[in-house]
Amino acid sequence: MALIVQKYGGTSVANPDRIRNLARRVARYKAMGHKIVVVVSAMSGETNRLIALAKEIMPEPDPRELDVMLSTGEQVTIGMTALALMELGIKAKSYNGSQVKILTDDAFTKARILSIDESNIKRDLDNGYVVVVAGFQGVDANGNITTLGRGGSDTTGVALAAALKADECQIYTDVDGVYTTDPRVVPEARRLDKITFEEMLELASQGSKVLQIRSVEFAGKYKVKLRVLSSFDEEGEGTLITFEEEKDMEQPVISGIAFNRDEAKITVLGVPDKPGIAYQILGPIAEANVDVDMIIQNTGADGTTDFTFTVHKNEMNKALNILRDKVQAHIGAREISGDDKIAKVSIVGVGMRSHVGIASKMFRILAEEGINIQMISTSEIKIAVVVDEKYLELAVRVLHKAFELDAE
Ligand code: ASP
Ligand code: MG
Repeated sequence: MALIVQKYGGTSVANPDRIRNLARRVARYKAMGHKIVVVVSAMSGETNRLIALAKEIMPEPDPRELDVMLSTGEQVTIGMTALALMELGIKAKSYNGSQVKILTDDAFTKARILSIDESNIKRDLDNGYVVVVAGFQGVDANGNITTLGRGGSDTTGVALAAALKADECQIYTDVDGVYTTDPRVVPEARRLDKITFEEMLELASQGSKVLQIRSVEFAGKYKVKLRVLSSFDEEGEGTLITFEEEKDMEQPVISGIAFNRDEAKITVLGVPDKPGIAYQILGPIAEANVDVDMIIQNTGADGTTDFTFTVHKNEMNKALNILRDKVQAHIGAREISGDDKIAKVSIVGVGMRSHVGIASKMFRILAEEGINIQMISTSEIKIAVVVDEKYLELAVRVLHKAFELDAE
């Protein structure tokens, strides 16, 4: 008998039929003698609908009130899921985030989980219930409703699995696993049977939307056994996120290609080349809670240098305003500009540790297509480039082929 957390995404709860289908799967696992905790997302499209509604009233919605609205999506689906289980004769009970007591910080719309009180869930499981928990939401120390950022139900699932010391966390979605890249861009993309936790972390942070990055971080920290599966395919084994590296020499050097259209580039031109400049530029950005991804500073010439970094597209204007209002005059920068017509493409693979020439191959492939590289960043197992967004799909396709990801 195992304790399993099953997380179902928006498409798996999109309508009553799909919820009934989900309930039948849960019933099968229950019949095998397992204890099951179900975490659900809102019905697909619901979170977007709620955001649009909020924006009709206030174009930049107050984050606390936005979270009050967004948390309703998952509250509907937990109730429906519990009802569907009851209809099958299964004892079920739903909890929203504050009822469990998923305690988070107070960063509305992107809160982090601080702790989970697992006592009620454990008691219900011991009493034979299937426990259904709302994904994506929690409560801060003052009782305010918070949400965990888009895709946050994955993190709820993994965090609950960690807190309950579950044997496995299964993430059910509309794809049957983790692919070498998005099959909508490259039809030849293949499902991976296994991927290492580190690679998954890089892919998620570089824009793969299969799992929310925080869920992968949690899984790594608490060694949660994680599997991504399709909720529409009963037989599939999905993709297992492993903690061991394959020693197999036949393993491809690159495991996957991720991309991200959500970033914007900010350039600060003509800043004095002296100590403290990076801090003076990025300090106020961090204080405003704007996440920065890539950062590049050129070697100085004539005592000045240029500084470029990327932020989420939604936060470009906020960051530009901060720099123009508080920073530009202060540090004597010549010009500050923003560009949101960019995209980031990243190749990821633990094989990079033992192979040379991967970066130069990537750059050659892009050059052969006439694609200009605007920024580059690397880690031990990743090379990411920023290109003009109009070349994104071409870049992903040619790299997928060049690194033989479509080969069996
Ligand atoms: N409903 C939320 C979203 O659409 C959370 C989730 O589905 O994971 O982002
Ligand atoms: Mg998701």
